[in-house]
Amino acid sequence: STEQWRAVDDYFVATLVGEDAALAQARRSSRDAGLPDHEVAPNQGALLSLLARMCRARRILEIGTLGGYSTIWFARAAEHVTTLEVDPGYAKLARRNLEHAGVADRVDVIVGAATDSLDELIARRAEPYDLVFIDADKPNNPRYLEASLRLTRPGSVIVADNVVRDGAVTDPGSTDERVRGVRRFLEQVAADPRLDATALQTVGSKGWDGFALALVR
Ligand code: SAM
Repeated sequence: STEQWRAVDDYFVATLVGEDAALAQARRSSRDAGLPDHEVAPNQGALLSLLARMCRARRILEIGTLGGYSTIWFARAAEHVTTLEVDPGYAKLARRNLEHAGVADRVDVIVGAATDSLDELIARRAEPYDLVFIDADKPNNPRYLEASLRLTRPGSVIVADNVVRDGAVTDPGSTDERVRGVRRFLEQVAADPRLDATALQTVGSKGWDGFALALVR
């Protein structure tokens, strides 16, 4: 049940992960400002940070900032994070949270529709990113994947969140644009010879969902 999933997450966070004052403040300030509770759970943030460190990521691209919670995890793991957010109010709060966490100098928060920001990064030939985290509007996931492939190099890692959506991902007839975006994204990943990939279901304080992981060959 959801209650048991939450209890296990709480146990793992208390035992293994922890959430220091800056992370807790980022979460709290997002709630106080009325942002949706769509940031990753603490143990998921730790997973992202470990992935970044395991692949020795120096530069990270995040699509979907919200209040900067996952951004803080990434910024503690790498030299530079570029994070893209469409909502100026969310971006402002994220910058404040990044300042408070002492990592603002390592993070570039770009405000605007991510498709435009990604085009801009491609146009200015941004140095390749070692890890990309796709966590914004799901209907655009296929476009985010195309852009990610242009902004990475062989050996880079691409992670996408929310690919299960309470199991709805298995429904080929879904009319939910988010589910359709995720399905198109997964099909695109599977068909691309440049990518080796898998996906994992997760249960926990964030309900039933999951991550897709891809390695650029
Ligand atoms: N990665 C964050 C974390 O774990 O702390 C959570 C990101 S939240 C799931 C998704 C974010 O993507 C929201 O802040 C939303 O405003 C942003 N977003 C939605 N559509 C977008 C778009 N077209 N371009 C850029 N950001 C967008």
